Amino acid sequence: MKQVVHPESHMMTFGYKPELSEGALKPPIFQTSTFVFQTAEEGKAFFEIAYGIREQGRDEKLGLIYSRINNPNLEILENRLCLWDKAEDCAVFESGMSAISTVLLEFLKPGDLLLYSMPTYGGTDHFITNFLKSIGIDSIGFTPDQSKEEIISMVEATGKANKLSLVYIETPANPTNDLIDIEMCKTISMHFETTEKPIYLAVDNTYMGPLWSNPLQFGADLIIYSATKYIGGHSDLIAGAVLGNAEVMGRIKVLRTFLGNMASPHTCWLLLRSLETLKVRMEQQAKNTRIIADFLEQHPAVSKLYYLGSLKPGSKSYDTYQRQYTSSGAMIAFEIRGREKEAFQFLNNLNLIKLAVSLGSTESLAQHPASMTHIGMAKELKERIGISDGLIRLSIGVENHEDLISDINTALNQIICEK
Ligand SMILES: *Cc1c(COP(=O)(O)O)cnc(C)c1O
Repeated sequence: MKQVVHPESHMMTFGYKPELSEGALKPPIFQTSTFVFQTAEEGKAFFEIAYGIREQGRDEKLGLIYSRINNPNLEILENRLCLWDKAEDCAVFESGMSAISTVLLEFLKPGDLLLYSMPTYGGTDHFITNFLKSIGIDSIGFTPDQSKEEIISMVEATGKANKLSLVYIETPANPTNDLIDIEMCKTISMHFETTEKPIYLAVDNTYMGPLWSNPLQFGADLIIYSATKYIGGHSDLIAGAVLGNAEVMGRIKVLRTFLGNMASPHTCWLLLRSLETLKVRMEQQAKNTRIIADFLEQHPAVSKLYYLGSLKPGSKSYDTYQRQYTSSGAMIAFEIRGREKEAFQFLNNLNLIKLAVSLGSTESLAQHPASMTHIGMAKELKERIGISDGLIRLSIGVENHEDLISDINTALNQIICEK
């Protein structure tokens, strides 16, 4: 039989054995907290492996113990997610923030320094600048316009370069789609690391993964997702995921066991269902987005468009875009001619497109970053990176593009009339 090579072909069946579940075609929800051991000896062996008491034998499998440690729905989901990013291992969490905070807590200790890209997701930013700071972990942020040399000098100027322990980036940055070069960040982490002290590179790939970018291939050590977004894709669950090699994931999974922030069997079951349509959903979303971007670009009420598909060849961003991504994605931000008043009029006039935060789902959503997702961000930083009062963010879904354009057009034209 010819080998199945495309992840989308594996999403319906991979890693699930119907004969272990009464022949059920689909994995049932294993709604159980604990698992029965065949013998006491088997229970002992499982615990020895789970707690790292001894090395796992070559052909030995960690059996099912307890749903905080493992569960069939969780394991099948993790194995399927590995296929998209060609990762050795994956850990699924009860939220994207759980995935992010677990990575930060595992790879940073009091006294350490974190280098991270700005802007980053509001919750991540809050965790870094408030909680990590409160336990003695310093951080330094860089922006997409800074060069490798500038970032290196900035780290050196802190006087704590020898304490740098993790580089954390989010690309494309929300909401303006600014790109960070992953390979450049890897050379920065390699510049500071020593043989005794590796400096890992973590990438929040929520915006473009797992379909359109696979950061491990550019040198990332860890990929992080809010699975609430494209992976879940139906705005009906909250979840997160981390992927990487067996060594880093071993550490992440041990911390997850003791923080107890794994996803529930029911959430995993919903995500398994979502993965079956991941590719068709994302492709349709990207297709719709391109048509909508073309429409917005020529509309007189729109003064600026932030969309990966409109990057100009020859620029640094275009070069990063070409190397790192295989699609222009399904996220757009645009500036409306006017300020908060006009932006709010537009949002209030939308009908089919719903006014809500979040992204990556089958339905299209619109929001106002300056007063919603990015309200907590310092004013200077907002101005520096283009989060103005007239900025709108759109997440495009799978609706018919004609209906979406008609909705946007009506809402935009209404502001012009009211002026
Ligand atoms: C939503 C989001 C998160 C947080 O994920 P939750 O699932 O809401 O906890 C992190 N990073 C990015 C880029 C996001 O969009």
